[in-house]
Amino acid sequence: MRKTHPTSINFITDNLISEFSLIDRFFKRQTTNPSVAQGIGDDCALLSMPNGYELAITTDTMVENVHFFADCNPFDLGHKLLAVNLSDLASMGAKPLAVTLALTLPKVDENWLQAFADGFFALAERYSVDLIGGDTTSGSLTLTVTALGLVPTGQALRRSTAKPGDIICVTGHLGDAGLGLKINQGYDCKQPDAALKRFNQPDPQVAFGQALIGIANACIDISDGLVGDLGHILQQSQVGASIEWESLPLSEEVLNYIEDTGDWAMPLTAGDDYELCFTVSPDKVKNLTIPHTKIGVIESLPGIQLNKSGIIQSLEVKSFEHFS
Ligand code: ADP
Ligand code: MG
Repeated sequence: MRKTHPTSINFITDNLISEFSLIDRFFKRQTTNPSVAQGIGDDCALLSMPNGYELAITTDTMVENVHFFADCNPFDLGHKLLAVNLSDLASMGAKPLAVTLALTLPKVDENWLQAFADGFFALAERYSVDLIGGDTTSGSLTLTVTALGLVPTGQALRRSTAKPGDIICVTGHLGDAGLGLKINQGYDCKQPDAALKRFNQPDPQVAFGQALIGIANACIDISDGLVGDLGHILQQSQVGASIEWESLPLSEEVLNYIEDTGDWAMPLTAGDDYELCFTVSPDKVKNLTIPHTKIGVIESLPGIQLNKSGIIQSLEVKSFEHFS
């Protein structure tokens, strides 16, 4: 897009590398999906759609000092920016196909860009996702990915279709990424590596999401903490939930953290786990092929009731909000 503000021209003239050679050097790669008829280089990318599929589309933005700190490792940032978008595709059961990347950069730092692109493409290659376009502008560091995926027509996993009596399940562990953030903020953990890895380079549960199609009634990815994200399923499905504390899948490090600090709510409210939370009717539980933990049941009355050592507590359904 043409710039009206005169200073934005500096982006091209003040740097040794132009916007176009930057795209060619760091972001233009051979595409691998046969559906990509046109990738980077024209005004639009072109995708052909296979019969019997719907296109799932999602966008997530990461802003410096809101989602990450200025000194954040650029490899991790490239990984995480793509991972959070692939996680949204996973939660609807979509198979990732292609992404676009909008970069707003304060300056052109070639080492930073190389590490960012390396992190981004290492994950993209793992899931055969093609980068098919984007935009590059100057300004405060802001990174946006739009991810496109394919899901069999009418079968996407939604938030609005949980039913009373459904078993509530999660993949993986809860709170490891939250512990990673605490470690970054100074918490002294004996075995920090796994939690830091989960915080810095989350794994989107792409295969698990697709395996839940036709089995799960509702699904969401846990980006803002279990209580908040399960809360979205409950609100949109107009149901409630009861959760068993003893059933929550917690790593040894998270259990140690709770013992040290008394902060037992952390694994329920901390974000960035990018595991899936889904609900399944009891007669379909036997069809589940993915590793999972059953943590509770969907109830017809609204709200979340937590059973912790025989004491029932009402949890406030609330997740992170940018404007509150
Ligand atoms: P236009 O001005 O027509 O929007 P651009 O000059 O912004 O086109 O982009 C040229 C080509 O490079 C387009 O195909 C666009 O999708 C792609 N592109 C621009 N920035 C990026 C980026 N950060 N990552 C991937 N592709 C990009
Ligand atoms: Mg453009």
